Amino acid sequence: NHKLSTVNDIVLKNTQKTSGVDGGKRVKATIVTLARNQDLMQLVSSIRVVEDRFNHKFNYDWTFLNDEPFSDEFKETTSALVSGNTKYGLIPKEQWSFPEWIDTERAAKVREEMREKKVIYGDSISYRHMCRYESGFFWRHELMMEYDWYWRVEPDVKIYCDIDYDIFKFMEDNGKSYGFTISLPEYKETIPTLWTETKKFIKENPQYVPKDNMMDFISDDNGNTYNGCHFWSNFEIASLKFWRSDAYRKYFEHLDKAGGFFYERWGDAPVHSIAAALFLPRDQIHFFQDVGYFHNPFHNCPIDRDLRLKNKCMCNPKDDFTWKGYSCVPKYFTVNNLQRPKGWENYT
Ligand code: GDP
Ligand code: MN
Repeated sequence: NHKLSTVNDIVLKNTQKTSGVDGGKRVKATIVTLARNQDLMQLVSSIRVVEDRFNHKFNYDWTFLNDEPFSDEFKETTSALVSGNTKYGLIPKEQWSFPEWIDTERAAKVREEMREKKVIYGDSISYRHMCRYESGFFWRHELMMEYDWYWRVEPDVKIYCDIDYDIFKFMEDNGKSYGFTISLPEYKETIPTLWTETKKFIKENPQYVPKDNMMDFISDDNGNTYNGCHFWSNFEIASLKFWRSDAYRKYFEHLDKAGGFFYERWGDAPVHSIAAALFLPRDQIHFFQDVGYFHNPFHNCPIDRDLRLKNKCMCNPKDDFTWKGYSCVPKYFTVNNLQRPKGWENYT
């Protein structure tokens, strides 16, 4: 029962701190983190850096989601660090378990095979629930319904530069729907049939694919095969309305029925990225070059020195992954006819 499974949902108000720097003109946005109680200490450093670099100036809410009830220690510690309101949501059981159409023996066999082949997280059940949840459910959690925008933050990440503008309002004012910092190819062993299922879906639903889509970013042969390029979804600043659209809902439903979250190990990153590339006009996808970001093992560090100094960035541009051989960002610039920053050749 849905009511019973969300009894942990509570809202802690920080009433003295809800105004933000530009007095009430904020958009409907929340920072959101999916985490376990044992992730607390790694999460504390992420919260501190996001607050220091951005949110202490804007006081946006922070929503925490978990498949188990959050501990008092988790709630007290995080709410002490966040300048906005904090909310704690329990994930309904049916969104974190095997759907009835999944053959659990077949899924177990796959996990065993992937364990032998040493596919990263290949033997994990919880990782698969996590990827399925981030693909199909976080944007329709009860606590998320009042928001139009979110910033996904994970434990142990870094933001390297000051963000002096309202990054959510930036998205809204500039007609953006999806923002990223790092992009690279996915491990093919985790997604053998994701592209086949995607092609089936768009063939049956061509109305969801706008003319100015970004197929050329994710496919090098006009849609025949997927090149693996995806936006690294541990950082996302994006529109919730996009995931709530008919196109994405139906796409997720199609993928979920196909079973690849369990029979393979489909990640939420390629799922989100393929959807953004195919269902959004290309100019709604934004590459953030000014915030600086780290999630093990990749860094985004602005290579433009003036920008680094202006934004008080704390990173070494030599570590920047953006222009390195394995990064998909150069392709993103090429297919969109964007001008690369001066001196990018020195950071390949
Ligand atoms: P990676 O970045 O792909 O190595 O995966 P992570 O271990 O960082 O997991 C991605 C996100 O999901 C992080 O925010 C984790 O805290 C969260 N997460 C992963 N597994 C679970 C889980 O079993 N339960 C909950 N509640 N959160 C999880
Ligand atoms: Mn992570």
